[in-house]
Amino acid sequence: MTIDDTALDLAASVRAGDRSAREILDAHLAAIEAREPEIHAFNLVTSEVARDAADEIDRRVAAGEDPGPLAGVPIALKDNLCTRGVATTCSSKILDGWQPPYDATVVQRLAAAGAIAVGKTNLDEFAMGSSTENSAFGPTRNPHDTSKVPGGSSGGSAASVAAGFAPVSLGSDTGGSIRQPAALCGVVGVKPTYGLVSRYGLIAFASSLDQIGPFARTVADAALVLEVIGGHDPADTTSIPQALPPVREHLDDGVAGLRVGIVSELSGEGIAPDVARRVSEAAEALAAAGAEVGEASVPAAIYGLSAYYLIAPAEASSNLARYDGVRYGLRVDATNTPDMNLRTRTEGFGDEVKRRIMLGTYALSAGYYDAYYGKAQKVRTLIIRDFAAAYEQFDVLLSPTSPTTAFALGDKTADPLTMYLNDVCTIPSNLAGDPAMSVPFGTGDDGLPVGVQVLAPAFGEVDMFRVAAVLEAAAPIGEVAR
Ligand code: GLN
Repeated sequence: MTIDDTALDLAASVRAGDRSAREILDAHLAAIEAREPEIHAFNLVTSEVARDAADEIDRRVAAGEDPGPLAGVPIALKDNLCTRGVATTCSSKILDGWQPPYDATVVQRLAAAGAIAVGKTNLDEFAMGSSTENSAFGPTRNPHDTSKVPGGSSGGSAASVAAGFAPVSLGSDTGGSIRQPAALCGVVGVKPTYGLVSRYGLIAFASSLDQIGPFARTVADAALVLEVIGGHDPADTTSIPQALPPVREHLDDGVAGLRVGIVSELSGEGIAPDVARRVSEAAEALAAAGAEVGEASVPAAIYGLSAYYLIAPAEASSNLARYDGVRYGLRVDATNTPDMNLRTRTEGFGDEVKRRIMLGTYALSAGYYDAYYGKAQKVRTLIIRDFAAAYEQFDVLLSPTSPTTAFALGDKTADPLTMYLNDVCTIPSNLAGDPAMSVPFGTGDDGLPVGVQVLAPAFGEVDMFRVAAVLEAAAPIGEVAR
């Protein structure tokens, strides 16, 4: 039994009665115990509940039942996913002491498929950030080099998979928060089509952009988790009443004849040369596997970052209005209600969250609404149109996931704009509502992982995963150390 086994292998052996869920869990808990003090991937490790759940899986197998496709597979959950009776913090002081009265739909579906939740992972507060340094509970570190960030905001989920704490995890992606940390930690990360995975029980950041998706060490494991969590959910009004694309069936189809476009606007200026080189090699690998590779143009993509930093804060300012000291978590008392609200929010929110609330409130204010929020929505429409035009010529698109490999802790905390630039390649697909994923493809000059981003039109997950599978097989070896 090793912590390097895939979720597919682990589940197969549990279902066949060859290994117990308990022994698998204990191996992963031992890995957590050994390295969690230096990584800090988790806000909470739920070992007791996890042991009970694993024992229950083993009882069911012994009774001749099949616990499901993720039988006995440990999974880490981003701490903005509601877990019944288990603290859910969004890495914010404002939710101090709050325990959700219900499970997120994805959490329910994972449990129903036999998965074992091992804990809640660290994130940038309310998922606002690209390095997990905005957590109220201290940063997470990159398992490949602990002087470096794991990316963010789902840095804890990415690091937990990279460190072998769990073979798979869940994150959320509003502007890149699954794909960018996946790239920096050398794992696979998927942002599905908007509406494909229920957000019931995901604590909202920017509702027109938020999506839940998996992290895994292999493309097949990511597909497996996606199939478990995806599909219609009447509890989420934005959930699409449509079956999930049959991703796993087509994983081995190859890419012969598939048209792949390298997005020129996301490939030049601002991309580190070592990262750009890996993207070119990835394109060559796809061509060698029979894809028709060309250059694609999504002109409005260059305005994605600007539009995002109006739309996302605008939605966040509204979503975060509910933290008023009455309904959830923290309350700092005062002699009257407005002062209580003010003191609670002043104390409860960190700097970046306050910055976003102020930006968003300004962008939505009377007199500025048309100039800022309205204009950003128009840019969003242009991006949607430009992607649609590109997808008339190409089945999938290719770009870097992140402009650089993992950077040092503290490197970008002084200047928010430098931090925001991390998501220049990932934000456009959130604005378009399209799926995109990051696949590890070799390392940069510093020996740290590089991720290649595969983008597809809405419901194009099958082609996206076909490309990802070929890239995984072709990825340069000489793996990074853990
Ligand atoms: N880094 C981006 C931000 O800070 C994206 C975050 C996310 O996807 N949750 O908004």
